[in-house]
Amino acid sequence: MRAARLHGPRDVRLDEVPVPEPSPGEVLVRVRAVSICASDVRMYWDGHAGGVPLEAPISQGHEFAGEITALGPGVERPPVGARVAVEPSWHCGACDMCESGGEHLCRNIRFPSFPPQTGALAEYIACPAHALHPIPDSIGDVEGALLEPLGVAIHAVHLARVAAGCSIAVLGAGAIGACILAYLRALGHERLALAEPVPGRREWAARFTSQPPVASAEEWLASGHEADLVLECAGENAAIEDALHLAKPAGTVVVVGIPHPERISLDANLPRRKELTVIFSRRSRATLPTAVALVAAGRLDLAALPVRRFALEQAAEAIEATASRPGDMLRAVVLP
Ligand SMILES: [Zn+2]
Ligand SMILES: [Zn+2]
Repeated sequence: MRAARLHGPRDVRLDEVPVPEPSPGEVLVRVRAVSICASDVRMYWDGHAGGVPLEAPISQGHEFAGEITALGPGVERPPVGARVAVEPSWHCGACDMCESGGEHLCRNIRFPSFPPQTGALAEYIACPAHALHPIPDSIGDVEGALLEPLGVAIHAVHLARVAAGCSIAVLGAGAIGACILAYLRALGHERLALAEPVPGRREWAARFTSQPPVASAEEWLASGHEADLVLECAGENAAIEDALHLAKPAGTVVVVGIPHPERISLDANLPRRKELTVIFSRRSRATLPTAVALVAAGRLDLAALPVRRFALEQAAEAIEATASRPGDMLRAVVLP
């Protein structure tokens, strides 16, 4: 089969590799769509994932949908032919985190595209059967891949325990920030504000907000704007400090973006004097069924999310496009 594999920093090659054999408990998935995450860009640029080295070439891509073509030993369902979305945090089911319902924090987690686990930028991938969620035909392949970032958004909102009627500010309207706004809307929240520097993204996401989005949180701070809940989705250190400034006393800040650089520093007086709750969100926690149900019921329109489509041999272009944060694209989607 063909696989787009990362060999080193900014070195993606289209390789011919054997079709994987599903192990016991796994199924073989014919990949139909893979959306590219900002975290894929980090490893593409650096050649390692947060210090974990790339010891052998692997495919990137953890947001994907496809159809089941073979079942490994011991697996009976979903059946061959089923179209599925995939929860990419593959947990062990046996550690203390798994046993207490925190599977996404599993101590033995495998994550496709995190070395050494190969990802979905290939024609086929072997996945644990428990990670798959069937999708109806009303959900297309591209939307099927986008269910994963929607699941990340749903998880962040759940962590925030947002109360009805509270004011909410979102920093950053990439795919995750946009999905958070869409999900909050679907839940009936109306007091939604957005700060996003890229004009096209800001204008697209304005459909969800109750006031015109601003280009930067500085504008809000200058005018005294504050919010009960601030969701940081920019992945930048400065945005975390902005979020702490924006939160009302006794408010909540959820850090959804992956801070860059990874070491953060902040004025401790900000959260301390206001007694803020600061939560770091980690991927998603069993949110795929909620995401599928919302989209299938027409309560959230993932098909409206601006994407650009790429062939498998254009995988590097798709990652480069993601890095450039264009205004007319929230996700690059590769169709292997
Ligand atoms: Zn992702
Ligand atoms: Zn575990």
